Amino acid sequence: MSKRLFLCIAMLLAAFAAQADYLPRAEAVADGVYAIVGPLGQRSPENDGLNANYGFIVTATGVILIDSGASKIGAEKLAKAIRAVTDQPVRWVINTGSQDHRWLGNDYFAGQGAEIIALQRTAATQTRFASQQLQGLERFLGKRLEGTRPVQAPKPLGGEGANIELGGEALTFMYTDAHYPGDALVHLPKRGIVFTGDLVYVERILGVLPNSSVQNGQQAFKALAALKPAHVVPGHGRVCDLAQAQRETGDYYDFLANTVGAAAKEMEPMDEVLKRHADLPAFRHLENYQDLHRANMNRAFTEFEGQ
Ligand SMILES: [Zn+2]
Repeated sequence: MSKRLFLCIAMLLAAFAAQADYLPRAEAVADGVYAIVGPLGQRSPENDGLNANYGFIVTATGVILIDSGASKIGAEKLAKAIRAVTDQPVRWVINTGSQDHRWLGNDYFAGQGAEIIALQRTAATQTRFASQQLQGLERFLGKRLEGTRPVQAPKPLGGEGANIELGGEALTFMYTDAHYPGDALVHLPKRGIVFTGDLVYVERILGVLPNSSVQNGQQAFKALAALKPAHVVPGHGRVCDLAQAQRETGDYYDFLANTVGAAAKEMEPMDEVLKRHADLPAFRHLENYQDLHRANMNRAFTEFEGQ
């Protein structure tokens, strides 16, 4: 291919990508319960930072939204996806976590009259990372971040979890503390549905960040499995059953803790451990495997070292 033709095609592709605005769409999980499955890739002006999953429950007295998006524009997009399904207003917004795309749309929904609800440690981590997140997002979203203000739940829920009822719907919050400190899952016990927040990743490999805890992730996944949900709405990736969540997240946390962590406790040389497990057939089909797997093992090793 000539250099000029190549350039031409590259420019056309770039123009096409810039126009492909991501619009969230609700999909039914059960009667009145919906998931919005965001794209798996990075935050971008096209997806407005909605590269994660959301959910909502339509009750007789209003909508419960689970996670609010990363920006004002992102929140407006979520609101539009909800309006396509129901005329009920969003009365409650729940935050399962403290990463930008879980909560920076709170301000928009609060402005529409919604009550923001989160556990105490979730809100505390939001406060801790707010300015850092806004700076990071600005790099990805540019001008489209304008008008976004960090607003946390005014009266976060104390204790090691919480049971609440909104519009006749029972919800149970459980801390997972895996991807970020204060992360939580939300269980609808009468429905057998769990919105896992960033505990579960399917189709793409989970990321272990400097603030993540592999030990908590392993434990939290066991607690999730004990709930025996019929439907799992993961933090990232399509709605799935518990078996897929187990294969793509639970088993990976087990590997990181039981294999990498165990080797770290035995004081084996990290380099050798990472080399030995560089290629894992059970997980290499997951998106981002090439980019994240080695770093994940590295962080897991560090977490278990010296224990
Ligand atoms: Zn996430």
